[in-house]
Amino acid sequence: MWLNLVLIFLFFINYVFSNYWEIMFLGTGACYPTPRHALSSLILRFPNGEVFLFDCGEGTQLQLAKSFVRPTKITKIFITHLHGDHFFGLPGLLATITAHVTGSNSVNLPPKHRLNHTVHVYGPQGLRSFMHHTFLLSENTVKIKYKIHELRIPPELFINRPPVLDIVENTLNCSANIGIRGRDIYEKDNIWDIFSNGIISVKATMIKHKVPTFGYVISEKDTLGNLNVDKLRDIGLDPGPFCKNIKEGKPFKAKDGRIIEASEVLGPTVRGRKVTILGDTANPYSIRKLAMNSDVVVHEATFQDKDTMKANRSLHSTPSMAALFAKKIRAKTLILNHFSQRYSPSFKIKYAGYLDDRTYNKTKFTKHTKKLTSIALYRLSQKVSTLEEEARRMLRMLKYPCEVKTAKEFMVVTVKRNIKKEKKKAKKLEKLYCN
Ligand SMILES: [Zn+2]
Ligand SMILES: [Zn+2]
Repeated sequence: MWLNLVLIFLFFINYVFSNYWEIMFLGTGACYPTPRHALSSLILRFPNGEVFLFDCGEGTQLQLAKSFVRPTKITKIFITHLHGDHFFGLPGLLATITAHVTGSNSVNLPPKHRLNHTVHVYGPQGLRSFMHHTFLLSENTVKIKYKIHELRIPPELFINRPPVLDIVENTLNCSANIGIRGRDIYEKDNIWDIFSNGIISVKATMIKHKVPTFGYVISEKDTLGNLNVDKLRDIGLDPGPFCKNIKEGKPFKAKDGRIIEASEVLGPTVRGRKVTILGDTANPYSIRKLAMNSDVVVHEATFQDKDTMKANRSLHSTPSMAALFAKKIRAKTLILNHFSQRYSPSFKIKYAGYLDDRTYNKTKFTKHTKKLTSIALYRLSQKVSTLEEEARRMLRMLKYPCEVKTAKEFMVVTVKRNIKKEKKKAKKLEKLYCN
């Protein structure tokens, strides 16, 4: 019993004091859901418990229910593109969040929280129209506030697309629905500046796919270096209360009247974390500047390398393409995601959804059925792990030391930041190169 209590205490301490970002995959499959792969969706959880959700394929709310994440913790949802496997779960999820905020599940929530709970949804132009009409036709009563912010697409990039009905009203009020229109976000130099709270910012860029598709980059603010007292004394000043301003990066006046920039007396800046989450793509290089030096890049790998032609035709990627991109942006960790349903996540589920061994051996197949069945079994025998091996092989060839993982449902990846350790490292480097 004591051991249990100690473990619970340690878990609590770790939970409260850990400064980790956590990425958890809810669904990793492409196209349509099967018992083996749920559709695209992942969460990014911050140390304060706030959760951002990226993509919301059909069934996301069920996956969420199986996870440790409470739907009420989701404050922002980012949709990469308007292919069904990435956003058909959105109306249902908002209804679920409503149930948790206002329904019987909400007993533990303070009334203020229930009334003010707002979910911000960001996605390509057309998402607002989809949500508006879905809730209008279904007379759904999503009683939480939700705002749909659209990433507006330049007309020249909207060619060959059906006209998207723009919702022009100031609000999306229909029946009891309290959706609020949200912002229209326009690009500047091919960057959509979406959100910033002073510590975390989210920006997006369009990447190549069949429909307008975005890659999102979530960045943490850099931390200023330590105050270098020796440098301060060199300019004739002793440390004092004014140092607080310097530590915040503000310029100050030296004794001789010179204006000194804080950077002149501070050690090297410690870089904040960066996570890049890409939608489906055959070529994400437009986002490379924004995604440079990412701690983690989540890149689709729908097909294996031998199916490169197929990937090119459907504007998807292979593991080698993902590895090349990870090297290009000098990513520390590459996570492959969005697998074709032909790849089995486990050895055990070889015949899932088809025939078990006994039935298979007993069944008298015609030549044609036998051929079809063997194709199906061959497909199911292909493993997601093959994709990981291919990415590793490419990275070995490129001599780029990047960690590779394949996304699995409910797999958690932590993005750590040990500021003390990093500052120590930065100080060491400063001693080596700056003196
Ligand atoms: Zn997809
Ligand atoms: Zn797609």
